[in-house]
Amino acid sequence: MKITLAPSAVVADENGPPHFLTSFLVNDSLAIDAGSLGLVSLQDQAKIKHVFLSHSHIDHLATLPLFVENTFDPSRLPVTVHGNEHVIKCLQRDIFNDRLWPDFVSMSREGSSFLKLQTLTLGRTIVLEGLRITPVAVNHVVPTCGFIVDDGSAAVVIAGDTGPTEEIWQRANALPHLRAVFLEATFPNDMSELADVAKHLTPDLFAAEAAKVKDDVAIIAVHLKARHYSGIVEELRALGLPNLEIGRTGKTYEF
Ligand SMILES: [Zn+2]
Ligand SMILES: [Zn+2]
Repeated sequence: MKITLAPSAVVADENGPPHFLTSFLVNDSLAIDAGSLGLVSLQDQAKIKHVFLSHSHIDHLATLPLFVENTFDPSRLPVTVHGNEHVIKCLQRDIFNDRLWPDFVSMSREGSSFLKLQTLTLGRTIVLEGLRITPVAVNHVVPTCGFIVDDGSAAVVIAGDTGPTEEIWQRANALPHLRAVFLEATFPNDMSELADVAKHLTPDLFAAEAAKVKDDVAIIAVHLKARHYSGIVEELRALGLPNLEIGRTGKTYEF
């Protein structure tokens, strides 16, 4: 399985390109979140057939409207956007509403097929593009799913935005071929009060979540707030976790 963290900045600083928006490309044809999906090459966007949204926050779906327009092709099936009930409602009410962007949802019902919306059922595995994808509820300020993605030989968790959580680790640990977890580390430790309120992780909380994952699984830190990046990295490295990696945008991970 190939997973690429889609870049979301046009210039790099000394830490590489900052990570403002979240999108994971999985094996070319599937995306998890659409924060920066509409910024990758047109050729790469055109290959995406399914988009899974973890939740409604703008850093996870900011470029979805651009992506839908960029990939519209009347000669092929429309892209399917999967999300929990809350995300699907937000897309219809707040994005594709003929104010922020054309109502591609209604237009798709009436003829021109721009996109198909599909509501996810928590815990129910979907099989497509050679992958088994299981949405699992995690702990964030709006209804949010993490995803377990399994190609039969490797399984990976993309945990989404979350504070301390349990179910996704129980499910993932039951998989014999669990290889990696992409885990958020949004705020530095001195912002732990904000992390509690916003239901995100600090490096200390990150360590507690990583300890819930069985041994020999790569733990890849993502969703580090750009303006606190160096401090968060320093605190993560100080944890001394043997399987820790700091996620790099633009990098393709293979499992
Ligand atoms: Zn969020
Ligand atoms: Zn986020």
